[in-house]
Amino acid sequence: MTGTRTTCPYCGVGCGVIATRTPKGAIDIDGDPDHPANFGRLCSKGSALGETLGTAGRLLHPSIDGERVDWDTALDNVAARLTDIIENHGRQAVAFYVSGQLLTEDYYVANKLMKGFIGTANIDTNSRLCMSSAVAAHKRAFGEDIVPVSYEDLDLADLVVLVGSNAAWCHPVLFQRILAAKAKRPGMRLVVIDPRRTPTCEFADLHLPVRAGTDVWLFNGLLAWLARHGLANPSYIAKYTSGIEEALAVANASASDVDSVAEVCGLDRQQLDEFFDLFARHVRVVTMFSQGVNQSSAGTDKANSIINCHLLTGRIGRAGMGPFSVTGQPNAMGGREVGGMANMLAAHMDLENEAHRRTVQQFWRSPAIASEQGLKAVDMFEAIHAGTIKAVWIMATNPVVSLPDADRVREALQRCELVVVSDCIAGTDTGRCANVLLPAAAWGEKDGTVTNSERRISRQRAFTPPPADARPDWWIVSQVAQRMGYGEAFAYGSAYEIFIEHAAMSGQGVAGSRAFDISELARITRDEYDNLQPVRWPLTGMAASRFYHDDRRAHFVATSPQLPRNRPDGEFPLVLNTGRIRDQWHTMTRTARSPRLAAHISESYVDLHRADADRLGLREGALASVTTRWGCVVVRVRCSGEMSAGSIFVPIHWNDQFCSQGRIGALVNPVVDPISGEPEFKHTPARVEPYGASWHGFALTRVPIDIASAEWWTQSYGADFVRTELAGRRPVQNVHEWALRLLGAVGQEECIEYRDGSGTYRIAVIVNQRLQSVLFIAREAEFPDRGWLASLFGKKALSSADRDMLLLGESPQATPTGPIVCSCFGVGRGAILAAIAAQSMKTPQDVGRALRAGTNCGSCLPEIKMLLTAPR
Ligand code: SF4
Repeated sequence: MTGTRTTCPYCGVGCGVIATRTPKGAIDIDGDPDHPANFGRLCSKGSALGETLGTAGRLLHPSIDGERVDWDTALDNVAARLTDIIENHGRQAVAFYVSGQLLTEDYYVANKLMKGFIGTANIDTNSRLCMSSAVAAHKRAFGEDIVPVSYEDLDLADLVVLVGSNAAWCHPVLFQRILAAKAKRPGMRLVVIDPRRTPTCEFADLHLPVRAGTDVWLFNGLLAWLARHGLANPSYIAKYTSGIEEALAVANASASDVDSVAEVCGLDRQQLDEFFDLFARHVRVVTMFSQGVNQSSAGTDKANSIINCHLLTGRIGRAGMGPFSVTGQPNAMGGREVGGMANMLAAHMDLENEAHRRTVQQFWRSPAIASEQGLKAVDMFEAIHAGTIKAVWIMATNPVVSLPDADRVREALQRCELVVVSDCIAGTDTGRCANVLLPAAAWGEKDGTVTNSERRISRQRAFTPPPADARPDWWIVSQVAQRMGYGEAFAYGSAYEIFIEHAAMSGQGVAGSRAFDISELARITRDEYDNLQPVRWPLTGMAASRFYHDDRRAHFVATSPQLPRNRPDGEFPLVLNTGRIRDQWHTMTRTARSPRLAAHISESYVDLHRADADRLGLREGALASVTTRWGCVVVRVRCSGEMSAGSIFVPIHWNDQFCSQGRIGALVNPVVDPISGEPEFKHTPARVEPYGASWHGFALTRVPIDIASAEWWTQSYGADFVRTELAGRRPVQNVHEWALRLLGAVGQEECIEYRDGSGTYRIAVIVNQRLQSVLFIAREAEFPDRGWLASLFGKKALSSADRDMLLLGESPQATPTGPIVCSCFGVGRGAILAAIAAQSMKTPQDVGRALRAGTNCGSCLPEIKMLLTAPR
């Protein structure tokens, strides 16, 4: 049976996937062994893609103000209302907020409509939240948004420095590639620079737990130190760069004294010496950076301070070396190529450049062209709140969860005259604010291209038709454009037609002045497009000495260190850092549907240093309120050992669909980098307090329960059950009746119940010999492992032994599974710890041989390594 070669829709690694329909109609997912991004490997998220397909939770029909309508009615309505608002309030009164989840063809059409036909640059993207600081830094340093490193360079590097990157969880296949290179060449060194001791650090030769926000001091210190020790490359600097004097002067003024740098950065002098020495000794060095650098009020300067060190040593543009920004999203790079951000024009051309504007307008034969930058994400939603933007079309993203100060974002949408949301998922936090909902095609149904972190363009191919009324995003946008009177320019019949137009645009007015030129691909046929193999730009290869400023040189940028604008104080003494976990993606609207992904970490948490937890009276496993000046969440306390004192971490994924109070975006300060506009997600002053629940509980049920009566709840999906964790400050009155109502079990014949005077209450509902639901309530959040109870939902009939143990919640025969560590083989923490203890295991390979854990995608290897060294 032949499968469809496509690309994973999650992170910026851009792994090739083969999707194969089985005789029973399910979809098998395998890594594509021929795709150069992954050579067959997939991480836990990619491997579980098959579990996220299907129509459960999908948005299937267009609607206006909650009423289902047909496509013509919906499209006419959107076109007419946009036109009306433009006529009455001007073109600046409308905006698009799009996404790195869109395919390049979708992105191209949305950008063309907004910048060339509506005539404003009010189109921004959730990529603003992810890597816009790296884009701005590339433009400042290289004159164009080029990424001067490819994945092969990681294979060849002698030193890899990961800055602000938990690659083991956020770019797992790339991290496995680094580990494979290290295994082949044990002399290769890995340094991790991160305030947290993340799972990535398990394999590092050196971890620098740099104080949040001080990266520019660190890299200025390195720049000054390298220059002082004669490690600059004078011939490279003279021939290919400019601006060294200013950059060095600022570095020397701010960070020439290594002791002071160590102190500012919160590091030991010895650690700093070791890092500087490693950087000095290895010519082939790749510095890979990610959101920990970009998501900062000084993100652009941080990225430039890294690039400066590579320019000073000439370690750029040759095999095994260079500064490498890895993107968070599958098509953040494609969005950059089409100019789908408020400060860009198509094909890496500049909005501020009159000749570029003319080139684009002539190519599009458009009636208008945006002549100045539009509003970047945070400012865009502020303008919606202020009422100056009166219509917004949000495509494939969930800003009510993901933007900073997210409650204000929701308020902005609630007061906006027209909110259009096109998405493949129903009931998202953002969709709930929409006037018009448009059902989009999802992964597996869409056709087009994406570009990964190393500039490699790959095809995403459809292998199943969109359900019900769902349609590709490019089709939806083109249809609205046609109804706004721009028919000829948007008469696309396929993604192929859009791609060749995009490729042709990239060759307009280039004459060697831009690296992004894929115009050769404008001549490919439909068949060639369908069979397009992954291809990296520039199609002619990246030259060491090729830069795109007018002087054709790379520019050093003088980077003056700045502390984050909002700093901890007496009221908010801790620093909140936010980020991803291993097995969820963005606002988890798709990944939460996968039982095996949900089993890794099934609810949100606040991770903090044990000393801080003790001082604040917080017990691990209890609930805590995390509060900032912008909002509050209630999540579970965790002391993983990853945090330094004074810092806390909360994951970004949870939202109102899965938790009553878990949207961390609502707590993040809306401070942005002044150059890139990227928000400061890694540094918000916060405080943490016990939640003060008077009772805790959990329910396992066959169908979701009505949680309206619960003060606090969080839900996750198992294979054949829904798990709901519950808590409240107010005592539950008449617990029996409340439990029956909660479980939807009023009138059910067989209920087994137990209660004692201490507040413990347990009930199990059995229908036709099968477990229908179970609920445990107690004063403290101390319950049996849910693994055994959950396994009963898979049984056709309960045995008498099962019934005997039901209200105990555990069976003496079952090993507590605990949270799943290895998603591929469903191996839990409990099983791994038991095997390590019983067989005196020493290495992840020992664990793999005994339990298979870690032997497939490898995403869990860092956690297995942690368990091997955990105190017992
Ligand atoms: Fe998908 Fe994982 Fe590959 Fe990222 S590393 S593209 S999430 S399979």
